[in-house]
Amino acid sequence: KRTITRLPEWLKTPIPSAGANPEFAKIKADLRGLNLHTVCEEARCPNIGECWGGSNKAAATATIMLMGDTCTRGCRFCSVKTSRKPPPLDPHEPENTAEALARWGLGYVVLTSVDRDDLADGGARHFAETIRRIKQKKPTLLVEALTGDFAGDLDMVKIVAESGLDVYAHNVETVENLTPYVRDRRATFHQSLKVLEHVKKVRGKEGIITKTSIMLGLGETEEELWEALRELRKVDVDVVTFGQYMRPTKRHLAVEKYITPDEFELWRQRALDMGFLYCASGPLVRSSYKAGEAFIENVLR
Ligand code: SF4
Ligand code: SF4
Repeated sequence: KRTITRLPEWLKTPIPSAGANPEFAKIKADLRGLNLHTVCEEARCPNIGECWGGSNKAAATATIMLMGDTCTRGCRFCSVKTSRKPPPLDPHEPENTAEALARWGLGYVVLTSVDRDDLADGGARHFAETIRRIKQKKPTLLVEALTGDFAGDLDMVKIVAESGLDVYAHNVETVENLTPYVRDRRATFHQSLKVLEHVKKVRGKEGIITKTSIMLGLGETEEELWEALRELRKVDVDVVTFGQYMRPTKRHLAVEKYITPDEFELWRQRALDMGFLYCASGPLVRSSYKAGEAFIENVLR
């Protein structure tokens, strides 16, 4: 099988350094005292300058990882470490996270986690408790939760959906046909649709924004992608993001195709034409990419 190894020009971007953006440097310094683990820093995300250091502070976005760094699943695109029995949850994490976020001058936070199939509630109560405490301490901070599928347990989805968050995100990651090859075998496209559908059932169609993300370049066909978008619109998913799949190591799935910036723009237009409220689409886009700015422009406007 053919493996693409050369990176196209548009993906060769420098990781922004603190020196290049004074605002970003200040946030980074503030963060040191807060003991928060941001995905932005730990994954060396290339968007950190844009997400953290934009001109509008109310839109500054960061992604925080809850429930540890060890996942009970093993998706073939993901480099997070895996174990059947990760360490127990830190019961102080909801309070400490809320306290730190209330002090950090951020406008929008994405809370995400590894999947915890080892816990009876999949971590849903821990997620919900963190969100409630954030909203108690700083009601103006916009909160997005990016959760797993809770193994299809919709009561757990309900617990998170009712915790006071503004955006509920769950990623389908790829088209239906590729799901068994790309995601852990416990995940299915249909189960993910059910999660997203249930959030709207609990909160009402207009009561909350739902969001999902699809990686491109895994070998999906155009028709498969159209079909995925149609299915997502059928359950009223509001927001979709597209980014290039990047292989974390040689042990992970190979990249089948590098999608050009023009193709990303085309899919963004197509998504908007299909009725998605907004869409971030680009080679380096991650599901949380400038999420605060997009929310303020498209939802609060
Ligand atoms: Fe990675 Fe999430 Fe899959 Fe776990 S469930 S392996 S964190 S993508
Ligand atoms: Fe952080 Fe997500 Fe922005 Fe990357 S795209 S800097 S992970 S908020």
